[in-house]
Amino acid sequence: MQILDGKKAAQSIKDELKLEVAQLVNDGKKAPHLAAILVGTNGASETYVASKVKSCAEVGFKSTLIRFEEEISEMKLLDTIEELNNDPDVDGILVQLPLPAHISEEEVINTIDPEKDVDGFHPANVGKMVQGLPSFVAATPYGIMLLLQHYKIDTKGKHAIVIGRSNIVGRPMSILLSSNTNPGNCTVTICHSQTKNLRELCLQGDIIIAALGRADFVRADMVKEGAVVIDVGITRVEDASKKSGFRLKGDVDFENVAPKCAYITPVPGGVGPMTIAALLKNTFRSCAMKNYE
Ligand code: NAD
Repeated sequence: MQILDGKKAAQSIKDELKLEVAQLVNDGKKAPHLAAILVGTNGASETYVASKVKSCAEVGFKSTLIRFEEEISEMKLLDTIEELNNDPDVDGILVQLPLPAHISEEEVINTIDPEKDVDGFHPANVGKMVQGLPSFVAATPYGIMLLLQHYKIDTKGKHAIVIGRSNIVGRPMSILLSSNTNPGNCTVTICHSQTKNLRELCLQGDIIIAALGRADFVRADMVKEGAVVIDVGITRVEDASKKSGFRLKGDVDFENVAPKCAYITPVPGGVGPMTIAALLKNTFRSCAMKNYE
């Protein structure tokens, strides 16, 4: 069994990006600029945005964090996005989800200029991704593809089981893995909350992507020997021994599943850091495309 070390793989992507940014700046071009919007004070969202901002600094990107109170109106938020759309210095716009219930996530996503949509959630980018055209691909599935690529995992012709069908993880993941690319070329089964024979399906999986958000859901008796298991889930479970009062758990019962696997991602330190690396790659690409024009 080999651990797919997302922290290490992400670091090597960040090291490359750092050199590329230095080259851009050396050539008299501007450094990439990511603008992040955070609404409210959700603990997990705070953590995610903070690590995105920190990672920008690590690779030499400029970043701007715009914070709003939970009560902000949808109109004000959309106006802010429009301002960022029109700001030539901003290459990437990220609105941290989830948003408060009174704000339409769909409206927010649709307002972001697709050319600055580095989260890859805009329908224009999703449509292009489905067609295999150049696009911004959602950071988590893109990060997983980069991780598979980093470890040179052979995915061609393999049966991939994706658990979860969300627009930000499961569904785009299923499209990417089935694409005629490397990594890719898998036969994909996408499972969800209404899937009847999940255990039997998982047992057929050469690759399992668990993205449902239920701690320890994938047990050892659901995984065949030699499988590649990618754990996307992040659930906070109470842990009095931790200063924060919680620890993070994945969707996979790591302790019992790992011995059966050829490769497995840990939580934390697997998909999480790769998601950020993918976001940085998207932002760099947005900036580089503009510099090229
Ligand atoms: P979501 O709640 O939008 O979607 C969950 C999906 O799981 C749904 O499609 C649902 O049909 C499916 N599901 C729920 N219960 C199921 C069951 N019993 N059997 C089969 N399928 C079931 O969640 P999401 O936004 O896709 O996120 C999934 C998990 O991944 C969460 O824990 C989230 O925190 C985590 N996540 C991690 C990263 C990262 O960077 N590591 C990024 C995004 C999301």
